[in-house]
Amino acid sequence: MKRLLLFLYILLSSYYSASAQSYNSFYGGVVNNCSYDSINNHLIDFENLGVKELGTSALNNTLDWLINFYQSYGYTDIEIDTFTYNGGEVYNLIVTKTGTHYPNTYYILDGHYDTKTGTGTNDNGTGTAIILETARLMKDVDTKFSVKFIHFSMEEVGLVGSAHYVNNVAFPSGMDIKVLLNIDEVGGINGMVNNSVVCERDGNTPTAANADSWAYTDTLANCVELYSSLATTKSYAYASDYMPFQAKGYIITGLFEDHYSPYPHTAADSLGNVDIPYVFEIAKAAVGASLYFAIAYESTGIKKFDYTNFLVYPNPVKDVLTITSENLHLPITIRLINTIGEIVKTELINSTTHLINVEELPNGIYYLQVENKSGFNSKKIVIMK
Ligand SMILES: [Zn+2]
Repeated sequence: MKRLLLFLYILLSSYYSASAQSYNSFYGGVVNNCSYDSINNHLIDFENLGVKELGTSALNNTLDWLINFYQSYGYTDIEIDTFTYNGGEVYNLIVTKTGTHYPNTYYILDGHYDTKTGTGTNDNGTGTAIILETARLMKDVDTKFSVKFIHFSMEEVGLVGSAHYVNNVAFPSGMDIKVLLNIDEVGGINGMVNNSVVCERDGNTPTAANADSWAYTDTLANCVELYSSLATTKSYAYASDYMPFQAKGYIITGLFEDHYSPYPHTAADSLGNVDIPYVFEIAKAAVGASLYFAIAYESTGIKKFDYTNFLVYPNPVKDVLTITSENLHLPITIRLINTIGEIVKTELINSTTHLINVEELPNGIYYLQVENKSGFNSKKIVIMK
């Protein structure tokens, strides 16, 4: 999709100061498990699957190929958003990993898997391979926010798959998206020195989310520099699957190759023209950024709080929530968190029966985080007056 809009590819001078997170050795450990062979093999497979246009068996086989990987990694929340376009069936693949603290707020990592004219090994086999590898590495890492790995179809005919998903699924359901990172065409040009990646930010109307997009893009650039060998430049987001999200006011960011390959949308978009070590570095950057955006944490030794003897009622609640905790380690800390992640109440439970007044809180869904020395968990509570 990018090629039509080359003239919009304007690099901005970066006066915006980078956010200051420092290297996280736990994240670095996960990033170091990133496999060059996985990326290389995914790109080979992707090329061998053929030209993935609407109605082709290549497109459907690629969907099956993706699903097989997610199943082999152990993911169970695998959905297909299906619709008809120009007489053909379109399938977006959505794989969800549930967060421990904010299960209804999502970090989305997305890229398209359809191609145009050629096999699309760069556009967008590269993004596809990186999303798969990120999902593999994050499977057993706890994240505070939920994560959706999304593979869109029909990007190449006008962002059709992503627009369908945003307009028919995400937006109408009030999906709470922390930030969306789109990866499209990050193969560079084989034979050139590809040592930088473009971090893309929102420069469009509506503008309400632009400042947040710029801040997240600074963070993304910071993660690229911390977890890969690459440098970064910044530019505007355009002509890829983040744009339908942008149009609905969601916060977006993206990665795009710094040397703009001439091969996408031609039969020459093939492995021989892709700089595979460069794709591998971008995979490391994407893993680091994804751990950071989803707030991954080291959970060795952290047990799940056992709800067997812990009762919370009524639910839905109007004014007073009663909590009983028989035979549990006291004190128990509880935090009530709204759907945008704000802690609206913190209390320490020191007796087997505890009352919490929620009368002053607005109606809606909340998460009751519960923590004591034996574990941590969270439960959904509805306040309805
Ligand atoms: Zn693309």
